[in-house]
Amino acid sequence: MSKATILIIEDNPLQAKQTRSVVESAGYEVLMAENGGTGFKLAKTQRIDLVLLDMVLPDFSGGQICQWLKRDEATHAIPVIMLTAKGSVEDKVAGLQIGADDYVPKPFSDKELLARIQACLRIKMREDELRGVKDQLENQLKDVEKMAITDAGTGLFNRRHFNELLDKEFSRAKRFNEPLSCLMLDIDHFKSINDTYGHPAGDSVLSEIALLLKGAVRMIEVAARYGGEEFVLLLPKTEPKEAVKPATRLLESISAHHFKGLPPDRVITVSIGIAGLPDPLMATKDDLVKCADFALYKAKHAGRNRIEMSDGAESEKRQV
Ligand SMILES: [Mg+2]
Repeated sequence: MSKATILIIEDNPLQAKQTRSVVESAGYEVLMAENGGTGFKLAKTQRIDLVLLDMVLPDFSGGQICQWLKRDEATHAIPVIMLTAKGSVEDKVAGLQIGADDYVPKPFSDKELLARIQACLRIKMREDELRGVKDQLENQLKDVEKMAITDAGTGLFNRRHFNELLDKEFSRAKRFNEPLSCLMLDIDHFKSINDTYGHPAGDSVLSEIALLLKGAVRMIEVAARYGGEEFVLLLPKTEPKEAVKPATRLLESISAHHFKGLPPDRVITVSIGIAGLPDPLMATKDDLVKCADFALYKAKHAGRNRIEMSDGAESEKRQV
């Protein structure tokens, strides 16, 4: 471990010299400041492990400097030991109340000062370690949270998270009487891609289409993988007839895309079904998905590589 660096803020040259030699004799690196302003700047800009702070300084009081150090994001974790000629209990209490970690009255014994420095550094080291562990755990937790809502194959939202988002968007659209479109998208003849070019080629088609979905249409706020080769998109504040334009752009960009691992002339197409609000027949979020799914089914049966709109009544028809 590298040597700890100690900042001594002391205006009296004689006292400064003496404190410095005690601290240096114990093997610490030392930085000096002869007033509070300089000391505070050094603490903010240098890597400091501990501050020895004189109580009476020419510009600001030691108490004021201590408060600044403890309030500042960059310096609040640095332990501060107050050094002062004032030795009354009131002064000690006042020093500790403004956030000093320890208090050593002058004149001090070298041994006592060094022992207190060591004790403060030990505590700081443990706190730094704990902070490190805490940061690590927080990052791991973020990763886990992200994994829980992400489809591993495509990086889009997974179906479970889509259902949560759909729940929110559908209730909001109903409550405020706002439009909301749902697009179901399915890759045409996906099985033949896997059969002809192998599963790795099929997987890269899925992830490249996912990238096109993410990138191509700015209006899409939610893009998720719904199942094997089926994707679902939600367009808040968009009526179904307005959703045709972005859907057409998607259809075109996918059929024009050259997919890695496939022959250059191999065209991949998709079929898209659109359903949406406002529609008095659509009472629940499941109706919305069902209608989009049925519109997709119509697109498949009408020859694929096309878009079909739901007429809103399918949720009832399909029950039959
Ligand atoms: Mg002084």
